Amino acid sequence: MQPKTHPTVAIVGAGISGLRCASILLEQGVSCALFDKSRGFGGRTSTRRKDNWLFDHGTGYFSGTDTDFLKHIKTLRLWQPKGAQPQERLYVGTAGSSELAKNIAAAITAYSPKTLSTHLGTTITKVSPVTTKGWQLFSSEGEAFGPFDLVVMTAPPPQALHLITDVESCITQDLSSLQTYCTWALMLVTDEQMAMPDLVRAPNAEISRIIAEHSKPQRQMLQAGSETSGGLVRQGQYVLQAGRAFSKTHSDATQEEITQLMLSKLDTLYGPIPKILHSQAHRWLHAGIKAPLGKSYLFDRTQGLAAAGDWCIGTTAEDAFISGSNLARAIIDGG
Ligand SMILES: Cc1cc2nc3c(=O)[nH]c(=O)nc-3n(C[C@H](O)[C@H](O)[C@H](O)COP(=O)(O)OP(=O)(O)OC[C@H]3O[C@@H](n4cnc5c(N)ncnc54)[C@H](O)[C@@H]3O)c2cc1C
Repeated sequence: MQPKTHPTVAIVGAGISGLRCASILLEQGVSCALFDKSRGFGGRTSTRRKDNWLFDHGTGYFSGTDTDFLKHIKTLRLWQPKGAQPQERLYVGTAGSSELAKNIAAAITAYSPKTLSTHLGTTITKVSPVTTKGWQLFSSEGEAFGPFDLVVMTAPPPQALHLITDVESCITQDLSSLQTYCTWALMLVTDEQMAMPDLVRAPNAEISRIIAEHSKPQRQMLQAGSETSGGLVRQGQYVLQAGRAFSKTHSDATQEEITQLMLSKLDTLYGPIPKILHSQAHRWLHAGIKAPLGKSYLFDRTQGLAAAGDWCIGTTAEDAFISGSNLARAIIDGG
């Protein structure tokens, strides 16, 4: 593909797959426009902040074997939680999981606005063919962007499909065959730390993971300890992730109902729970894919329409990174 003065590739989604795809395209001189409905980068690797507390309520940590991905995650901090296998290499950001996306974004936003335009807080509602050639994108605010030669969608399959309902393309059949699952996560702060490992996997049928966020490197510094007669007591800070069956059964429950249900499971496992200073449930509607596509991207070369994301090959950030990388290389090679 020849470099052009104006953006030619529109990327919907600034999670790990979209950012990685953009970064390789930009390196090769391809102009990009990047869109995300959120106000920040990272998608499901984003970090929630509340007062002094940080919660990795999506991606809890990064691990992998892909050489390029390892290069990126090794810029973060190695986390060796009690409860992990001794040989495991888990990486976390001191400022939260969103640090990985922010690092990739910092490198790409250094490109001139002519080469990269970034549109955060922009929900794309429709991708439509232009009569002559290429695509236009429309936002929920009624804005139109483009035309672009090529559109890359990195939203989870049901959301990507929604953007191209009126378009005839070979990728729509694959997209419509994919099903996602939802996951509830509970963010919790207690006035004392609970007696449990830093990382607990599948402790029972309802909870699939508990992470003591306070055990991650440099997170303790972000906590305000509470003064007791004996001195400073360290607060406990946790992210509980519900299992798939539990999340499905309670997919329409309220945040308050989920909070109570998950707290009662936690209490049974490691109770009694100390005084709760903060709790908030979050539902990830498209947390992961039930069965991955089995190839690392979708690309309708004739029409200039493509899709990438973790769901192509798995359920991890590494899968998203590989998918975005492979699609970018295919665009460059085949453009
Ligand atoms: C609870 C939970 C725990 C997890 N734990 C781990 C873990 O420990 N380790 C690990 O490696 N992975 C984990 N994952 C998986 C990891 O988060 C994902 O694999 C990875 O973040 C997917 O990246 P992506 O770019 O493919 O998709 P996403 O991160 O979903 O990015 C897609 C982006 O598209 C945007 N978007 C969607 N629709 C539109 C639209 N219409 N207009 C504009 N923008 C749009 C979204 O806002 C989002 O930013 C976890 C996920 C969840 C939910």
